[in-house]
Amino acid sequence: MDKVAIVRTKENIYESLGKALDLIGGIERFVKRGDTVLIKPNAFISREEKGFITDTEVVISLAKLCKEQGAKEVYIGERTPVVFKWYSKEKINFAEVICFDDVPQNLKLIPNARVIKTAVPIPRIVEECDVFINVPGLRFHALSLLSNGMKNMMGIMPKETTHIIHISGLEDAIVDLNNFRRSNLIVSTAIHTLVGNFPVGGYGIKSDTLIVGDNVVAVDTVSAKILKLEPREIRHLLLANKIGLGPIDLSEIEILGESIESLEWREKIEKPIIDYTPYKERINIIDPSNSCICCKRAFACGLSDILEKDKDLNLKYITAVIGPVENLDKYELTEKIILFGNCTYPYRDRGIYIQGCPPRANMAKQGVKDLINK
Ligand code: SF4
Repeated sequence: MDKVAIVRTKENIYESLGKALDLIGGIERFVKRGDTVLIKPNAFISREEKGFITDTEVVISLAKLCKEQGAKEVYIGERTPVVFKWYSKEKINFAEVICFDDVPQNLKLIPNARVIKTAVPIPRIVEECDVFINVPGLRFHALSLLSNGMKNMMGIMPKETTHIIHISGLEDAIVDLNNFRRSNLIVSTAIHTLVGNFPVGGYGIKSDTLIVGDNVVAVDTVSAKILKLEPREIRHLLLANKIGLGPIDLSEIEILGESIESLEWREKIEKPIIDYTPYKERINIIDPSNSCICCKRAFACGLSDILEKDKDLNLKYITAVIGPVENLDKYELTEKIILFGNCTYPYRDRGIYIQGCPPRANMAKQGVKDLINK
């Protein structure tokens, strides 16, 4: 049975991390003398507010633990040079900080990929390290509902290649990456948890918690439950479970340390806006398909950021087309049209076309704004 430890960090982070790791066998179970260790935090956002990146103190403590355990080399790696803002050389003398954009890469065809069918650049260190430690920051995400260990793997793609994931199909692509490079250890940092309407909004709440395990699907399943989400509704978890990457039922996971119910900060949880139904009086939406919910969520998240800020704003002169539509002309259209997602490609010359499967929520917001200003 997979084990996941939940530990509170009100005291010293380094000690709390050691305690969490001890519950699943200790750092010595994962790191051996002479190993090369790669620690992958989520650290590509430069915003200063708490909760938008993996807690840096946890990452630094983890690097220190690995070095003390006898690791030959410890790297902290992330895409984009923003990683150097959070992990400067002056702060860390027992790990080397690397930006995946600038390290040697192999152009790889991902074996058994569901959707990433073209060769993609993968930093060599991701494949060559002995131990890959996945250290996400716990957060909601309007598109995937949960952003934690599995989604953090998007950050192994250097530079702008993450757009390949959005074009290919976000959730299947997340599964491809996790199937390609399994995480040996996952330390989900919920020191501040990002709640609310992320990625267009969101804010961190103090939560002082670590969630630690050796199976990324199990850690994400427990993390989803902590965020009051149903793991089976998170498509990338469901797909990962179907191909045998890990369990999505709590009955198959042994939770050690604190219980989920004991985490009092869960009372402050606010979920992202993923339903545009309340806005249908204020914008014309054509979305006849019930087959896929990702574009619906992304559009709702982006649109809500505009409409919640101005409650009197009426956008009935804008039509949003979402998901597959068989015959667009049978619907009542307005002069200004936004076509949201790859499924609307056949009508791309009828208005502003936003590519992606799904596109990013910020692109929905920007597309609607562009039509307002046109
Ligand atoms: S509606 Fe179409 S474009 Fe949007 S996420 Fe689903 S399959 Fe992809």
